Amino acid sequence: MAYLDHNATSPLRPQAHAAMERALGLQANASSVHRAGRSARALIEEARAEVARLAGASAEQIVFTSCGSEANALALWGAVERTRESGPPVGYLCVSAMEHDSVLRTAAQIVDRIPGLRIVVIPVGRDGAVDIEWLRIFLDSADARTLVAVMAANNETGIIQPVGEVIDMVREADGLCLVDAVQSCGKFASDFAADYLTFSAHKLGGPQGAGALVIKEGAPFRAQLVGGGQETYRRAGTENVAGIAGFGAAAKVCRGDDLSRLSRLRDGFEAELRFRFPECVIFGEDVARLPNTSNFALPGLPAETALIALDLDGVMVSSGAACSSGKVRASHVLEAMSVRPEIARCALRVSLGWNSDEADMDVALVSLEKLAARMAARRAA
Ligand code: PLP
Repeated sequence: MAYLDHNATSPLRPQAHAAMERALGLQANASSVHRAGRSARALIEEARAEVARLAGASAEQIVFTSCGSEANALALWGAVERTRESGPPVGYLCVSAMEHDSVLRTAAQIVDRIPGLRIVVIPVGRDGAVDIEWLRIFLDSADARTLVAVMAANNETGIIQPVGEVIDMVREADGLCLVDAVQSCGKFASDFAADYLTFSAHKLGGPQGAGALVIKEGAPFRAQLVGGGQETYRRAGTENVAGIAGFGAAAKVCRGDDLSRLSRLRDGFEAELRFRFPECVIFGEDVARLPNTSNFALPGLPAETALIALDLDGVMVSSGAACSSGKVRASHVLEAMSVRPEIARCALRVSLGWNSDEADMDVALVSLEKLAARMAARRAA
């Protein structure tokens, strides 16, 4: 077995598992004043401090959510609605063409429901980076406040985005900035000074079902889920204590990850790919990428075929974003990078994590080689 799909979900780290077991043993509501309730509260606050450290934020700026998608939606809706109450109101939602669907579809939903609000898409270059010059020109000429959403690193290609520059530009234009750091967290410093920053526990070896929105001081925000006073009235609902505790533990451990080990494994894998399949196309090979991600195409080998064959050999990878797996559709990320459709259809994503090793890479390479040989024999017959 070789699990190489950490960008979809990174398996639960033992430390996160242990923290969750401890929390599950408590069986108390963190809002209760008795000792069991206070213990649950303490676990949440411990986790909040760890996530804040990851975000370069203060603990009060962290709002726990159910996932990264919710955090993205909460930032977008929260900013738009609040600025309509006490302006200047957001007039443009400016999203990069390669954002995760939770940003793209929420932005479309908001524009559908709020008259006068417009959506603008920042183009992506062939190098997989957002077009900064395009954004500069747009912000200079925009006739209304703009909320810009750019991810820190792309989930499919791993390509790192120039978010520092984006944040500076947006600030100068009196706009607002959301940085989706769901994929970058734990893989490179994600303490961005954006107005809104989002994380997801299961991408760094925490559990599924926990995420966080970081709201920087002064950033406009309106709660979407109201009821109890949890998360200081910014997100109502009894907290997922075990999920949050697991998130905190994963956030703590990931600081000690040896990321150069991952990039060595990934680079070795890609060197073998180039050697065994000279025709392979590796997306983003010449630009800054997450150390754990390899997105490549073996022309003529459709991704659906490869996924099934690899799975039969016990190799688990993706053909794009996990959220869209099961649907045969071209990757909007590769499309935004102007990758030819016949190449994009062959794109496979291998993503490593805390428990990946050399043996995983070997199993994947052997399986790919077997498959390519079978395809070649079929074509020759
Ligand atoms: N943003 C990015 C960049 C992602 O890759 C994902 C998940 O793949 C999400 C947001 C959504 O996170 P979650 O699965 O926690 O909803």
